[in-house]
Amino acid sequence: MLKRRKTSMHIDAHQHFWIYEPKEYAWIDESMTALRRNFLPSDLENDLAESGFHGCIAVQARQTLEETRWLLELSAKSPFILGVVGWVDLQSPDVRSELEKFAHNPRFVGVRHIVQSEPDDRFLLRPDFLRGISVLQDFDLTYDILIYPRHLAVAAEFVARFERQRFVLDHLAKPPIKSGDLGQWKAGIRRLASYANVFCKLSGLVTEADWRNWKEEDLRPSLDAAFEYFGPTRLMIGSDWPVCRLAASYLRTTGAVKDYLSRCPANVQAGVLGGNAQRFWKIDW
Ligand SMILES: [Zn+2]
Repeated sequence: MLKRRKTSMHIDAHQHFWIYEPKEYAWIDESMTALRRNFLPSDLENDLAESGFHGCIAVQARQTLEETRWLLELSAKSPFILGVVGWVDLQSPDVRSELEKFAHNPRFVGVRHIVQSEPDDRFLLRPDFLRGISVLQDFDLTYDILIYPRHLAVAAEFVARFERQRFVLDHLAKPPIKSGDLGQWKAGIRRLASYANVFCKLSGLVTEADWRNWKEEDLRPSLDAAFEYFGPTRLMIGSDWPVCRLAASYLRTTGAVKDYLSRCPANVQAGVLGGNAQRFWKIDW
């Protein structure tokens, strides 16, 4: 039995690893050449520690069972990888047996599908997909919602069907920080946040801003909205490393959110920096 420690845990709730291969990572286009290399645990470990994080949640980038297996292997070798959000084919009639293959591993904490890239804007409501989601509860797994603002209304309909399923919205659904036209996004976030079983990652914001010229204040309206609608107990900091490197270093990316948090009471900071993620994914420490 693990002894509970008194200090709160700091967790980076969202990052990726990959061994770069053009065909497998076709989304890494000409504008993202900085991402065309390997990113492995040894590349992250120092940044993570220097930023005061005890560990991270590794999130799938490829939609294969091999990706899930590989991330779980990495987590077995690198204890700072506290949890893996993997991929299984949620639309498959075999979803239950696919999940059974991974479910014994305590590091397997959740599932994600790259819904933002599905041509059908109502993908989340497809019967096959809904059936897959309905199985996650039996394995005590969470689901990461990766969408654009245009999907927010559908996402609210989606989560309404699973009151007891734990969901987390990735990257605040990517607010249009560069244009600054946040009205529609805010309305969508407000509606989705009204479901108490939905958490939200404060991640991926720097890459929605002007990569070359963003300033911390550019992120503030989105962070304000996140706090207003989700409140302080359902938010979690995440780096989205290495994708964040398109716009900023690991330290600057996480530092921007930490600076914003520095004005909050200590208990709020402790929650967003790790306590909420720990509770959401039921991470022992
Ligand atoms: Zn990501």
